Amino acid sequence: TGLVVAIDGPAGSGKSSVSRAAASRLGFDFLDTGAAYRALTWLALERGVDPEDRDAVIALVDDLGYATIATPDGTIVKVGETDVTTAIREPRITAVVSDVARIPEVRVRLTDMFRAMIAASREAGIVVEGRDITTVVAPDAEVRILLTADEAVRVARRSRELTPEHAGTATQLRDRDRKDAAVVDFMTAAPGVTTLDSTDLDFEQTVAAVLDLVEA
Ligand code: C5P
Repeated sequence: TGLVVAIDGPAGSGKSSVSRAAASRLGFDFLDTGAAYRALTWLALERGVDPEDRDAVIALVDDLGYATIATPDGTIVKVGETDVTTAIREPRITAVVSDVARIPEVRVRLTDMFRAMIAASREAGIVVEGRDITTVVAPDAEVRILLTADEAVRVARRSRELTPEHAGTATQLRDRDRKDAAVVDFMTAAPGVTTLDSTDLDFEQTVAAVLDLVEA
């Protein structure tokens, strides 16, 4: 059977694109757990639910109808019948996703969903990316990596992915990491987790370093 490769790290560490590329080269499935938190946030805004109204947000998990479809061009994310692949990356989602993600009951429910998805990919092998994969979702993963990079580098990488007018990027990234890190510690590696610092590595070198850890 295949391996489970768990990768955690802060926003802008390059985690998402690196994990996706590593999965593709290994022929493994890929699970971006942040996309599910974003999809739930999208549904809350769509339904006019305040992301800070915990009970209302928890109730929405049952309605999420979350599905991902792997295509050669990337993963399509659906909430019910709606394709939300692009919408979940909008700044209005990024701005409040941490409020949704800090609700303990939401984390428990999504963690159950992630574990089911991982179990379904056991044969193929899977790369799973997020904030609490190495510690909570899949602490028994065969390969566990904390992907980090200095903050200045993370801000620069993130702003390249975003639309032009992003003077606010540095502050937003710091705020989001601070909020998220209060819920799960993804800034220091748990015992048995390998830290991979990508500050001085380009994209290809970072992917190669991940593949080395998998093949070690
Ligand atoms: O990785 P991404 O930036 O898309 O994640 C969006 C948000 O989802 C994070 O800022 C965090 O609040 C939440 N998240 C989480 N646990 C994970 C993955 C993401 O709390 N495993």
